[in-house]
This record gives sequence, structure tokens and C-alpha cells, in this order.
Amino acid sequence: MDKTFHIVTFGCQMNVGDSDWLARALIARGWRQVDEQDAWFFVVNTCSVRDKPEQKVYSELGRLLTHQRGKPGLTAAVGGCVAQQIGRGFFERFPFVRLVFGSDGVAGAPDALETLAEDPSARIALLDFLSVYPEREDVLSGVLKGALPVAVPAFDADQGEPDAGPAQAFVNIMQGCDNFCAYCIVPYTRGRQKSRLPEAVLAECRQRVEQGAREITLLGQNVNSYGLDPSRQGGGAGMGFAELLRQVAAIPGLLRLRFTTSHPKDIDPAVIRAFGELPNLCPSLHLPLQSGSDAVLRRMGRKYDRARYLDIVHALRAARPELSLTTDLIVGFPGETEDDFAATLEMMERVGFESSFSFCYSDRPGVASARMTPKVEESVSKARLLRLQSLQNSITKESLKSLEGHEAIVLLEAKSRKQDDGPCFWRGRDEAGRVVNLRLDDIAPAGPEAQASEGAGLALAGLLVRARIVEAKNHSLLGEKVGQPW
Ligand code: SAM
Ligand code: SF4
Repeated sequence: MDKTFHIVTFGCQMNVGDSDWLARALIARGWRQVDEQDAWFFVVNTCSVRDKPEQKVYSELGRLLTHQRGKPGLTAAVGGCVAQQIGRGFFERFPFVRLVFGSDGVAGAPDALETLAEDPSARIALLDFLSVYPEREDVLSGVLKGALPVAVPAFDADQGEPDAGPAQAFVNIMQGCDNFCAYCIVPYTRGRQKSRLPEAVLAECRQRVEQGAREITLLGQNVNSYGLDPSRQGGGAGMGFAELLRQVAAIPGLLRLRFTTSHPKDIDPAVIRAFGELPNLCPSLHLPLQSGSDAVLRRMGRKYDRARYLDIVHALRAARPELSLTTDLIVGFPGETEDDFAATLEMMERVGFESSFSFCYSDRPGVASARMTPKVEESVSKARLLRLQSLQNSITKESLKSLEGHEAIVLLEAKSRKQDDGPCFWRGRDEAGRVVNLRLDDIAPAGPEAQASEGAGLALAGLLVRARIVEAKNHSLLGEKVGQPW
């Protein structure tokens, strides 16, 4: 059995971050990340936040199983929320699954995969919740079995496009969540909040910048409550999120800093001020609203209302006028009336979210809202979602249109999908995280090594280029470079 692996990731950026870490940890142990058809080990990182997640994972495993022909030892590992819920049940249903791990088990997954590679009869379950943040590698001493290498980008099955490249790094600052919003399964599948020690976060950030990262995204289910865990041992005590942000922003060489997700109830005025004070803190914030109706917000247990949310938006825009706001919205929460829904549409217009993730409410097992009535008919929820998304499309279009003629600094990620035989287009992101496509075919790759590589392919990824925005598309921008990348 070759130590070759392929990771499939469902769900949020936390999962993308976990997959990215796992890939780097395996590569550091001598494993190779390969295409699906060449892999002996699959890792399926799962999410159970919405809709029939088990079915999705079962069908993915069924699909991966088709690679078993001629590979009798083919092995799968299932991680994340669905693994936490179904646990050892996977071993019976899919005998080629030999490892299940929850979010606190990620740290032990690389060693567990090593064991599976050496012992074809082994089966391992890493499902316990821990009371402190499970540090994944010895980043504090910098030993780390050698610094983790930069992995090739993982593939996100939900998004259908490559994730962040090596110039963009995700760094976990906490795990779990204590909020128990009425609809949400996360506190049950990912356990209670555990902040990571600030020293460990800072050490990993420094290391990633030394390895070439120019942008870091700090990750947690609710980063604003970083360091507020009840146990001092949980780490982070004594340092809140605002201070952590400042210290990470001060790392020499870090050009862009982002964070997600930010719960409005806990946002600290010092974090709001940081948007006006830290030049490398990107002017974008994902601030989930969920609903624009105070009655629904109360039943959701979100602990803020419309007025408080609008105050935060006002303060943020005073600190950084060009700030781009994005959000999450749920329609069809139990008891949501047409008036409640209209209040959500009204808030969307008032705030002017540049984009949003919007979902029909779905009952998750064991959460408080599963017992709430009346349920909103599926057809009503779906119709509301369509109306909401159509409003979002027009707000998005308008705000992208307003950028035409302006200049932006774009961090290049990869060649754009559609190349044909025409000019070469690159995709990148501006400071606010908007996708910008721009033509870069007349740029000479830097250095002989790059010239030997596939055109300017890999050489330009991770560079910055100034661009003039010439056209707003529905969900992205078309730019024209101004000067050379650096
Ligand atoms: N921690 C983040 C916060 O509080 O904003 C959100 C994390 S959650 C994994 C991502 C999003 O999934 C939520 O913001 C919510 O909009 C959506 N979501 C969670 N549970 C849901 C449910 N039962 N039905 C529909 N959408 C749900
Ligand atoms: Fe879920 Fe609420 Fe925690 Fe976000 S803050 S993960 S929505 S319980």
C-alpha cells in the first residue's frame, strides 16, 4: 500500500483549514498528495450543518469505493461532524472505512493513518471531546518534525474549485462553540469552545509567513469570543481577540489578515477600531445576521437584535468606510411569518451585503429548534430563498458595478478556468476578497525555474498586481493590470 492520499472536503472554512493542515502533516511524514484515481487512502472531511449530510457522505464513499478494483487495501478515513455523529457505524456500513475522527481527533489523524498503513487490519476511532485545545504539532518549539511543508491546494467538493494556494494560509485559533444557537448542531458535533494558546497561534502564523504565506485567515466558529473560555487551561485567557489580531498583524511580511466567523453579539469595540488602525487587516467582514426579524432572532437565541446589528455596522463603516460586509441568512426558521421574512429583505438592503450564504432552515437532530413549531412549509421556504437570492444578486451587481474605474491590489491565485486558445486570464482576489479576473499573458515568468514550469503557471500565484476594474460581472470583477506584479 503506497502512502498516497486524496482529501475530499465538505463544508465550511474550518473544514477546509482542517483538511489543509492534515495534508501538510501527512506530507511532512513522507506521504504524497495525489489525484483521486492514484490514491490508496481517502480522507472525507464532512459537515452536518445542513440538509441530509449523511446521505451525501454515503454517496461520496460509494463513489470512492469504485476505485477499489485492483487495490484491495484501499482505505478511507471519515472526519468532521458526520464522523462524530455516526462514529463506528461507518466501519460496518463501509468496511473500507478504517478511521473515523471528530474535530478534536484531527490532531491524532496523521499518526492514526500511519498505523493503518502499517497494519491493514487496524480500525481506529478518535471521537472523544477534549477539555483543552488539542495542539496539533509542536509549533511552540518549532520542532514539528521539521516545519510542515506547504501542501498543494485541497479540492473542495462543495465549491468545485481549488482552494487557497500556498500564499494564503488558514490558522485555527479555537475549536468548538458555546453559543448553542437554537438551530445549530455545531456545539454538539464540535464540542465546547476551546481557545488555542496565543503563543501557538502566533508561532504558526510566523511560520506560515516564513514559508511564503502573504495572507492569513484566522479561523474559529466565533472568533470574537476567543480567550473567553471558562478554563484558563483552555488557553488564550488574558489575551482577547483584539490583542491577538494586533499581534498577528504585526508579523513582518504579512500583507493581508482576515478572520472568520464573527458572531455579532461578542464583537469588541477594539476589534471594530482595528479595522481603522491595522493597514494589513483586510476591509471585509463576514458578520452572520441569520434573520432581520427581532422575533426570529430571539427564538434563534442569537442575543442581538436589528438595532444592535445596525449599530455595529455603523461603527465598522465609521472605522473603515470601504469595508465590504457579507453574511449568512436562514429562511423558514420555525414560526417565520411573511412579515419576519420581509424584515430580513429590508435589512439586506439597508446594510447592503456584498454577498451572502443563504439557506432554507433544516431541522438538525437534538437542536432546540427541532422542537419549535409551526414549521414553515418547504415550498414556502424555497420560494422565500429564491426571492432573497434574487435580491442579493441585484445588491451584489450594484455594489460590484460601483467599483468600475477604481483600482485594486489583486493577490493572484491561479489561472482562470476558461483558457481555450485565447489570451491567458488569471484569477485573484482584491483586498476585500472579491474575485478579480485579469489578463496576464504578456508577463514573463520570474527566473529560469519558473520559465521551465508550465508557462507562468506556478510563478505568478501568490504575487500581487495592481489592476484597474474595467467591468463588473454578476459575481466577480474583470480587471486590467497596471504595472508589473510583485
Ligand atoms: N459560527 C458561525 C456563526 O455563528 O455565524 C456560523 C457557523 S454555521 C456552521 C454556518 C451557517 O450555517 C450558519 O451561519 C447558518 O446560517 C447555517 N446553518 C446552521 N444551522 C442551520 C440549520 N439548521 N438550517 C439552516 N442553516 C443552518
Ligand atoms: Fe452554530 Fe451559533 Fe456556534 Fe455559530 S455561534 S457555530 S451558528 S451555535
